Amino acid sequence: MEDSKTISLIPPYGGKLVDRFVSPDELDEVTAHANTLPSIQLSQRSLCDLEMLAIGAFAPLDRFMGVEDHQRVLDELRLADGSIFPIPITLPVEPGPDIQLDRDLALRSAKNDLLAVMLIREIYPWDRAEVAEKVFRTQDLRHPLVTEMHKWGKLNISGELRVLQLPRHYDFKELRLTPKETRSKLEGMGHTNVVAFQTRNPLHRVHEELTKRAMEELDGVLLLHPAVGLTKPGDVDHYTRVRTYKTLASRYYEPNHVLLSLLPLAMRLAGPREALWHALIRRNYGANYLIVGRDHASPGVDSKGQPFYGPYDAQEFVEHYSEELGVGMVPFRELVYLPDEGRYEEISQVPSAATTASISGTQVREEYLNNGRRLPVWFTRPEVAEILAETNPPRHKQGVCVWFTGLSGAGKSTTAEVLTVLLLEFGRQVTLLDGDVVRTHLSKGLGFGREDRDTNIRRIGFVASEIVRHGGVAICAAVSPYRTTRNEVRGMVGEDQYIEVFVDTPMDVCESRDTKGMYAKARRGEIKGFTGIDDPYEPPENPEVVIDTVARTPEDNAHRIVDVLLDRGFIRKESSMEEAGQAAAVSNKQ
Ligand code: ADP
Ligand code: ADP
Repeated sequence: MEDSKTISLIPPYGGKLVDRFVSPDELDEVTAHANTLPSIQLSQRSLCDLEMLAIGAFAPLDRFMGVEDHQRVLDELRLADGSIFPIPITLPVEPGPDIQLDRDLALRSAKNDLLAVMLIREIYPWDRAEVAEKVFRTQDLRHPLVTEMHKWGKLNISGELRVLQLPRHYDFKELRLTPKETRSKLEGMGHTNVVAFQTRNPLHRVHEELTKRAMEELDGVLLLHPAVGLTKPGDVDHYTRVRTYKTLASRYYEPNHVLLSLLPLAMRLAGPREALWHALIRRNYGANYLIVGRDHASPGVDSKGQPFYGPYDAQEFVEHYSEELGVGMVPFRELVYLPDEGRYEEISQVPSAATTASISGTQVREEYLNNGRRLPVWFTRPEVAEILAETNPPRHKQGVCVWFTGLSGAGKSTTAEVLTVLLLEFGRQVTLLDGDVVRTHLSKGLGFGREDRDTNIRRIGFVASEIVRHGGVAICAAVSPYRTTRNEVRGMVGEDQYIEVFVDTPMDVCESRDTKGMYAKARRGEIKGFTGIDDPYEPPENPEVVIDTVARTPEDNAHRIVDVLLDRGFIRKESSMEEAGQAAAVSNKQ
């Protein structure tokens, strides 16, 4: 669609877009030079920051901050030249012989791709407590950035950047637009008002409602601008999120009114300061409005269970700077659903007697996805429900590891074999990793010294964790005598998917069984380091299940473990299958 009038979008902050790329005719020469330089590998966060700097998303900032910019940003939310800038963008490094003033330093990715050359102009120490207090207003380690900062280098370095290439992305390439590319697409859409929407979550109906209301109010287009760099640990991964955004943008918005573009932003979860930063960044992409709702860029709750920032602190903050920054704010109070009227409304507008409905992120995971319940249509579009259901299968399709530990002859293999058959009957895919069998292939050649035993257990743990990750059941039966190694495996598999079964058979019973004649050999001294005789067995401290093989049969014990798996939802009875398919009930709150 051709538009005859020329659209002029809001100019970038500071007047022009920053562009730190080396020109094509110098590229070979600078690359050759860079290959001779000492180099550092950037963290994922610094990699995102470098990309944002290089493409002009942080304009007018064109480099990692020097000491003057840094201090003024902490104290006054401004760069040394007075421009608004609320978040410190620094390159922290550890001191070392390569960190020298007036020397070039090559910046590489974790995979050693050469990305940029920095001429080091400043090296300065920074104070973690000061940054935590001023930027995040807290020292609480529950704030993900306050914790992360403990791992950062002690010195910040700054200087001109010559960028050779951007970090490589192979996913969703067509959606990764630079500010320049975004502007050119927006210009083609024919509206001066561009309202940006920042997000780090899958989009539901309530978000759709916010964005559509904002567009209507301003007669503008929507820049749907999800952060895909780093978000809060534990967030839904960006592959899943972007699939939801693509579907929504193509099916539920007018094509010429929405532009979906992925932002390589590493979020700081700094609440109010972060919201202002988001506004500044979106101006560089051509947006003159930003939607700010409830709990913008929130890090959740602190170690006392209190929110780090008030739900509308970010709105107040952005409002204060809005005129100077040139980016208007579209504020929203919390929107809730009114089931009786079939529509969304801001909570302040809802009559006190009305029934409202909402579903929290935790409820989405625990009550709906884990139980295989479909999210209701008033809450999310069916296509989005489908994508979320696909990437978060219900518990009975998630992987799980059942780990048997105990002395040789305790009854691990015998019980594990019965359990395997019972779980096959429940329709699960099961792999049995028996220590003795594993030692004939995967761990062939390993001995019984401490180190080899640990290696064997780690190998079993690695295979089990891969099986679990892909939705299978791994049943492992190995003496696994050492507590720390078992806990390591628990960590590899994931706490929620790990069930430790302690086969608590007394030593004398194991010895009297002596199925393989090993105890007798050990007693005669023909084998050394035999568990229970001359090598320790460390019993588990808090196993999920303890079984008694003296009082109960292998079958009884296997059924007990089945009950635990049923209880946790990893398997389900035939009768519960219909129930799970039924439409979910609306949870009413008021
Ligand atoms: P592990 O794998 O712990 O070394 P096995 O399962 O190979 O032990 O050997 C256990 C031996 O004890 C088998 O010969 C089994 O028949 C016998 N046994 C007797 N009662 C039980 C029981 N209740 N549970 C498991 N095994 C039992
Ligand atoms: P782990 O590697 O934790 O010891 P595995 O189940 O892989 O556990 O191996 C233990 C099995 O190998 C035991 O059931 C035992 O029958 C056999 N075995 C052979 N030699 C020894 C030994 N010196 N010490 C312990 N188990 C031995």
